[in-house]
Formats: sequence, structure tokens, C-alpha cells
Amino acid sequence: MLSTITCNNISRHPLFVNTCRCISHKKFEIVVIPSCHNFAPTLVTWVNPSEEWCAMQTIVVVGGGYAGIHTVKAVKAESERTGAPVRIVLMDPATYHAKKVRLVQAAAVPTSLRVPWEALFPAGEADFVQGRCLAVDAAARKVKYEDASGVERTLAYDRLVLALGSVVREAPEGAGGIALRDEVHAERIRLAVEANLSAAAQERDASRQAALCAVVVAGGGISGVETAAELAKAMRRRAAALGLPATLPRVTIVAGGTRLVPLMTEAASKRLEARLRAASVRIVRGARVAREGGDGFAVLSDGRRLPCGLVIWTIGVDPSPSLRGLGLPLGSNGRLQTDSWYRVQGGYDTIYAIGDNARIVDSATGIEDGMTCREAIQQAQRLGRVLLADIAGRPAEPHRAATRQQYCVDLGEGEGFAWIRHWGVDFTIGGALGGKVREYTWNLGSLMK
Ligand SMILES: Cc1cc2nc3c(=O)[nH]c(=O)nc-3n(C[C@H](O)[C@H](O)[C@H](O)COP(=O)(O)OP(=O)(O)OC[C@H]3O[C@@H](n4cnc5c(N)ncnc54)[C@H](O)[C@@H]3O)c2cc1C
Repeated sequence: MLSTITCNNISRHPLFVNTCRCISHKKFEIVVIPSCHNFAPTLVTWVNPSEEWCAMQTIVVVGGGYAGIHTVKAVKAESERTGAPVRIVLMDPATYHAKKVRLVQAAAVPTSLRVPWEALFPAGEADFVQGRCLAVDAAARKVKYEDASGVERTLAYDRLVLALGSVVREAPEGAGGIALRDEVHAERIRLAVEANLSAAAQERDASRQAALCAVVVAGGGISGVETAAELAKAMRRRAAALGLPATLPRVTIVAGGTRLVPLMTEAASKRLEARLRAASVRIVRGARVAREGGDGFAVLSDGRRLPCGLVIWTIGVDPSPSLRGLGLPLGSNGRLQTDSWYRVQGGYDTIYAIGDNARIVDSATGIEDGMTCREAIQQAQRLGRVLLADIAGRPAEPHRAATRQQYCVDLGEGEGFAWIRHWGVDFTIGGALGGKVREYTWNLGSLMK
């Protein structure tokens, strides 16, 4: 039950002062969200709001992944640059931003993946609502969401940004192994590998010992490569500590295509493979993992069997399943289709989508953005300008795909591989310097210095 109070000067009201970072608004009303604090649900009716407050638009950003947090930052910067104040509300089921790209590291060594919202936005750049978005009522400009205690609520917006991201694909049914889906699965992988190595240290049968020390990574994309490199190094160190020969651990990447990280050029991919081999990672191309055999082997699609104590699945991502319930049109790829200004197609002029949950195409070149951090961040930076321009009724620059191709690959223990293609030439940086570039881009992605 919502109790109602009325006040003339909202800033003097103690309840509001205490909870002003956890609000939703509907022009002259402010709902104090009780899930964030121990207050009864209260509807504060503001009798005499200032002109400036009434004119201010509320931008609700759903999803605090890379696209969402960079949208908050870009909107704030553009609002300050243009002198047009806006309220920003960030909604996410978690109380922190998850550093998803570091999952590969967490699968090998204990790694903190969480950045609390307060640490990310210390100057109160956005209000935070902990909730899972369930549906969008575009006509009423409201989002329906489930709060942390499972209660359904609504949140009003003037402009809505959908950045619900993607989920890592599950292993094929009954195929065994663990997919590197999230923090929980990353820890499961790490503990399973450690348990296998400890068991190997007690094992006297050579073939069983070899299987316990072997990991097969299914998928030759960026996350498969990074997981394999991180694990190869961590397993050697752990094996040595257990008195096992450091050469016993064996990590094999099984890639369906003819080369690793197909987004790179062939020449760059070859250089990357050389780095992986130097880290004792084996590579099998042109086959897929069918299943973890359960008998110390992984079975490949062509019938080959590889010694294996654990299969790790890194076989791609799918758009967030939450998208299907939003009530907005999705493309055949299950993602929101946008125009060149990130507005959701189908006449949704106040709803924008970027990041992994959106299909975004450069109208000049026809190039479709990939599902990567880098592209999500570039979209967010442009969206900040688009939003403020749309609010002011000004034209804004349309989306353009990045002109330079570049990737940074983590190779474990401070090493990395950075690739940039410019003027038709592949530039690569490896070793510790590549690792520094990798670390820098990881931190930049999560708004950390
Ligand atoms: C293991 C791995 C390694 C990767 N490595 C790289 C790399 O090295 N370089 C690179 O460029 N890219 C990499 N990627 C891809 C990159 O992580 C994604 O492209 C990026 O995360 C996309 O950002 P996003 O904000 O769109 O989505 P996400 O990061 O997926 O964030 C989505 C956010 O939305 C929230 N959310 C979901 N549903 C709801 C809902 N219903 N209501 C409210 N909030 C919701 C989630 O909690 C999450 O915070 C990697 C991906 C994986 C899985």
C-alpha cells in the first residue's frame, strides 16, 4: 500500500533527502522506492516544483553493462557541455557493474568482477534502481520491472535506453562440461580444474593422470582463446606447486573454422596462434566438440577423441532473453533493430537501443556492428549526443561504423596481444606491452583508471 504525502519544498523533506538517489518521477510526483531503504512506500506529491525541475527530462538506462555505463557517462558529459540538465536513472538487477570481459581471467585465477554503482558514479551521475525490466509501455512511457524483492513496479521515462546485452550460449544439451556464462560458472571452472589437478597428483595411472590434467576449450573466438591462454599458464603453475611436471597440463582449443578469432585478418590470427603455442596451448581447427565423454576424453564432431578432464564451452552469445518479453519488435536475430540514431525501429522515437541487444548498421557502408565492448562503448558515446540533440530538437550525427579494426587479446599472467589494422597493414604488440594495452582497455571499458 502506497502512503501519500504532500510538500512544498522537496529538498527540505527528510525522506526525499535520504532517498533522493533512488527515485522515479512522473512530472510532479516522486515515488520513493522502498526496496532501496527501510521506508514505507511513499508517493511524494511536489506542489511547487521549480521551472527547471519540470523542464528536466528523465532518461532511464536499462542495463549496467558496458553500453549502459558508458551511456550514463556520455549523457552526463553532453548535458554539462550543452548546459541542458537531465535526470539519469540506471536500472539493473545487480547492485554492481560486472566486468564481463574478465570472466576469462576468473576461470583461471580468483578475480574480482564487481564494481559497485557508487564506486562507478561517485558524483551521483545517475540514480540507481535495482530491478529487472519486464516490459515497456511505449504509449505511457513507462517501464514495468521487478524489484529486488520480487515486487512488480513501474518507472516513468521521457527517453529510454535499452542496453540489456547478451548471454553466453549454453553447452549443447547433454554434452557435459561448463559454459563460461558468468561469475558463478567461471568459479566452477576454476574449482573443477584445481580439483582435477589435485586428483592427478594422487593418480598413478599415466593415462588417467594425463586426462585429469587436460582441458578442452570449445570455440576459437576471442573468449575461447583468452580462456585457454589464462588456464594454460595457471595450470602449469598449479601443477608445479603440486609436484607434477609443469609440462603435464594440456589445454586444447577446438575451433570450427580454419583460423582463430575470425574477426582478425589471417596474418594477425597466425601471429596470435604463435603466441598461444608458446604458452603451450594446442589448437585443433575445422572440428567441433560434440561432448565431454565422461571417460577422460572429449569427443569431436569428426569422431576424434582428445584426452580431457573438463570441456569449457565458449561458443558464442545470444541476445538477452529478457528482450522477448518487452513488447517491442525484434529482428530475426532476436535483437532490437535500430535506425541510424539508435532509435528502435517501428515508430519508437523515444526508445533507443545499443550494445549487444541491438542490431546496428552503418547506413553509408552497410557494415553491421559486432557484439563487442569496443563497439558498445562507441555507440554509447554517440548516443549521449543523440539523446541531448533529440531532446533539444536538433539534428544529430548518425551512427558510423569504426574505420579502424582493432582487438586486444588477453594471454594470461600480464601478457597480451594487441592488433590494429590501419592503412591495410596489421600492427601487433605482444608480450608484457600487449598485456598493458589489454589491461588499459579492460579498465577503460569499466570506467576505471
Ligand atoms: C567471456 C567473454 C569475453 C569477452 N571478451 C571481449 C573482449 O575481449 N573484447 C570485446 O570487445 N568484447 C568482449 N566480449 C563481448 C563483450 O563482453 C560484450 O560485447 C559487451 O559486454 C556488451 O556490452 P552490453 O552492455 O551491451 O551488454 P552486457 O555487458 O551483457 O550488459 C548487459 C547488462 O544488462 C543487464 N540486464 C540484463 N537483462 C536485464 C533486464 N531485464 N533488466 C535490467 N537489466 C538487465 C545485465 O545485468 C547487464 O548488467 C566478451 C564477452 C564474453 C562473454
